Amino acid sequence: MEMTEQLELNADMQKQNMLNLFGESLRFDSPLAEYSSFKTGGRAAYFLITNSTEETVKAVSTAYNNKIPFLIIGGGSNLLISDSGYDGLIIKINILGLKLTDETKIECGAGEDLMSLVNFAAENSLQGIEFAAGIWGSVGGAVYGNAGAYGGEIKDIIETVLLLDKTGQVKEVTPDYCKFKYRDSYLKISKEIVLSLKLRLQQGNKEKLVAQIDETLAIRASKHPVKQFCAGSFFKNIPDPKEKFGKLPAGRLLEQVGAKELSIGGAKVFEKHANIIINDGTATSKDIRELADILKQRVFDKFGITLEDEVISIGNFS
Ligand SMILES: Cc1cc2nc3c(=O)[nH]c(=O)nc-3n(C[C@H](O)[C@H](O)[C@H](O)COP(=O)(O)OP(=O)(O)OC[C@H]3O[C@@H](n4cnc5c(N)ncnc54)[C@H](O)[C@@H]3O)c2cc1C
Repeated sequence: MEMTEQLELNADMQKQNMLNLFGESLRFDSPLAEYSSFKTGGRAAYFLITNSTEETVKAVSTAYNNKIPFLIIGGGSNLLISDSGYDGLIIKINILGLKLTDETKIECGAGEDLMSLVNFAAENSLQGIEFAAGIWGSVGGAVYGNAGAYGGEIKDIIETVLLLDKTGQVKEVTPDYCKFKYRDSYLKISKEIVLSLKLRLQQGNKEKLVAQIDETLAIRASKHPVKQFCAGSFFKNIPDPKEKFGKLPAGRLLEQVGAKELSIGGAKVFEKHANIIINDGTATSKDIRELADILKQRVFDKFGITLEDEVISIGNFS
């Protein structure tokens, strides 16, 4: 048998094996750009959407037991996926469900949009999560990175989190376990997967909450990209107790190094916010990564401060 024929045969066997393991919902050589708010990135060798805890447990334990590398995504609003894609299984969590379990408690699937949770809380006159109005992505992604804005963070309203570890074990934990920090959690180390959450909120006034959410959305619309492809702030702010909310905005430093005049290929710095990189529709992930690295270097050269990525890069950029 010719070498190429043998390779094709091996690839077919591997494909069949994956189908046997994961079933017909498995996609092959699947484009990832549509699942990233940057709208860039290559393809995943395998791609699966899970709609329930059971499906997610099955997918993760099958991948683990068969030594198949896998990666979880939610809304894709904090990801930079390399142009060469991901040579493994991408599992997109789509576990839905929003339920009032008590006068002040909500249970929520990890695949729900964070904004749906914000609206659901307001409709039920519950306050505590209005700060998150306008933050993109899923509830699971928000827990993973402890999403926050305007002094609020998701950690402050979590009662428990239902987690799945990479071996397929499910456990319910309290926020202590997750060791939440600014845009950070222990889940980034443990690689555990958020399946659902229980949140504890406070009773509030529905009209006031709706007005507050609208106001936050209007403020965001005036400063943040609405239609452009981006992933929000590219870099984390810098801890500084003297600053509002205890953080020196990375955008302020980036302004001073001329960020807003910079672009690489189709990647540009957003004209209203120096810490946001946008794709004008023609950018590659490499363009975005290169621009981010130049910005980082300029800030280091001028201020001696090393900016840390908030956006999570996936795959190979070298
Ligand atoms: C216009 C814009 C504005 C933004 N503003 C803010 C802001 O104000 N504050 C803020 O904090 N963020 C902001 N972001 C960034 C982003 O919305 C958040 O980081 C969001 O929480 C990411 O969620 P996601 O579901 O999109 O995660 P993804 O981008 O899909 O994934 C990000 C990381 O989370 C992990 N992950 C996703 N789902 C799960 C899960 N169920 N279990 C375990 N790990 C998981 C992934 O593996 C990945 O490592 C903004 C983004 C945009 C585009």
